Amino acid sequence: MTVRTRVAPSPTGDPHVGTAYIALFNMCFARQHGGQFILRIEDTDQTRSTAESEQMIFDSMRWLGLEWDEGPDIGGPHAPYRQSERGAIYSRYAEELVEKGHAFRCYRTGEELDALREDLKARGVQRALKPSDLELPADEVERRHAAGASYVIRMRVPEEGRCDISDLLRGNLELDWAQVDAQILLKSDGMPTYHLANVVDDHLMEISHVIRGEEWINSAPKHKLLYEYFGWQMPVLCHMPLLRNPDKSKLSKRKNPTSINFYRRMGYLPQGLTNYLGRMGWSMPDESEKFSLEQMIASFDISRVSLGGPVFDVEKLSWLNGLWLRELDDEAFLSTLMEWAFNRDYVMQVLPHLRGRVETLSQVAERGSFCFTGVPPVNASAFDHDKFSHDQMREWLQYFLWALETLRHWNRDAIFAEAQRIAAATGVKVKDVLHPVFVAIAGTTASFSVVDSMEIIGSDLSRARIRQAIEVLGGVSKKQAKKLEKNWQRIEQGLPLDGADTE
Ligand code: GLU
Repeated sequence: MTVRTRVAPSPTGDPHVGTAYIALFNMCFARQHGGQFILRIEDTDQTRSTAESEQMIFDSMRWLGLEWDEGPDIGGPHAPYRQSERGAIYSRYAEELVEKGHAFRCYRTGEELDALREDLKARGVQRALKPSDLELPADEVERRHAAGASYVIRMRVPEEGRCDISDLLRGNLELDWAQVDAQILLKSDGMPTYHLANVVDDHLMEISHVIRGEEWINSAPKHKLLYEYFGWQMPVLCHMPLLRNPDKSKLSKRKNPTSINFYRRMGYLPQGLTNYLGRMGWSMPDESEKFSLEQMIASFDISRVSLGGPVFDVEKLSWLNGLWLRELDDEAFLSTLMEWAFNRDYVMQVLPHLRGRVETLSQVAERGSFCFTGVPPVNASAFDHDKFSHDQMREWLQYFLWALETLRHWNRDAIFAEAQRIAAATGVKVKDVLHPVFVAIAGTTASFSVVDSMEIIGSDLSRARIRQAIEVLGGVSKKQAKKLEKNWQRIEQGLPLDGADTE
């Protein structure tokens, strides 16, 4: 059997270290067996998927040295590798299941679904919605169909009993069919859900081993059943442990930067980051801490993965990165540094803003230094303002951070528009809202336009610096966050905040 593995990210938001982690293990497994590693883009959620995000996945994986043998950008025998281009395939397979009686058209409305769930709850029944709950009498189906009502295609699932799933690392897993709902396979807009598209593609792309995060374990019964319905052999399943924050919670950007771009902009080396990801739940047979991708592939053995949640600790990553950095000789160090930020392209973005503000060349590095640093420390007193309190500024910064997190296109105008929106809703001037942003980004207000600075240093460093500023200004408690979130929803809808001075 040819070993074929894949990583199947959804192109929404920033390229996640978790994607690189799963890609790394899939790639090592495929290489070790002389097989192929495939990149598939799962972009069936058209409202959240973006071309920018997809491009960032390609760039960040290549930067890390995680090369794929088949993928949307390089093609391959099973193209296309982008699910949005495979729509006709999925609807054909969904129809096949309907014809065979393994799936049904469901005309239930949203209100009916809510009522059915309420009813189960009221009766104290703790199980998912099943076909028996959902199916309508044939004449009612006929009536709704004739009226042109919209429908979804759902799979039939057992009402109860045990589903056995075999996992390469975990052995036999027992899951309860009662908790598995009559999963939607094809949505009313004709697009497939993750489950259908994933199973159909893994089969058609001849994937032999599905190595993915443990958050997908609960999907495995549905997938197993789909393979049975189609009469296909299921790939071997292997669920990797989830990366965790130092407090053991699931790795989240609220507690740890999760974007690969962040680590790149911070000046981590790709060798350092892949080495660190390789140590997440895995170790070399001789327990050496520093190893290259080639060494990892040569010694790879998936059974050495340990299931205790690996902690992604930025301090340990920095330590390891330091080892890699110190290994570079002066020439290599220089070229790495130039590639990182001391190159013509990058410096040329900064210089036009500094030129008019210096009298000697020696002031260039001093005034532009914040464009060449990571998240430099800042004191609360740097934010002092004669009209506005730290509390007030912290609130604006929090809104601004939320705004930036959902920004699709990172450029000065879009960033400025967010500041304007917050200023309008809170009844102050844009200049006031931007005061703490200036300090957060450049350490001082005596610098060039902060929106230009943010465009230059990029979204990851900008957000990390704003996050730091919020902490320096006292942080936002859970309770405060709730209140601010409510306000933020109003701002997003273009409504002024209660009590805002909007003369
Ligand atoms: N699209 C899923 C994700 O975003 C893929 C999960 C899987 O590997 O099956 O992670």
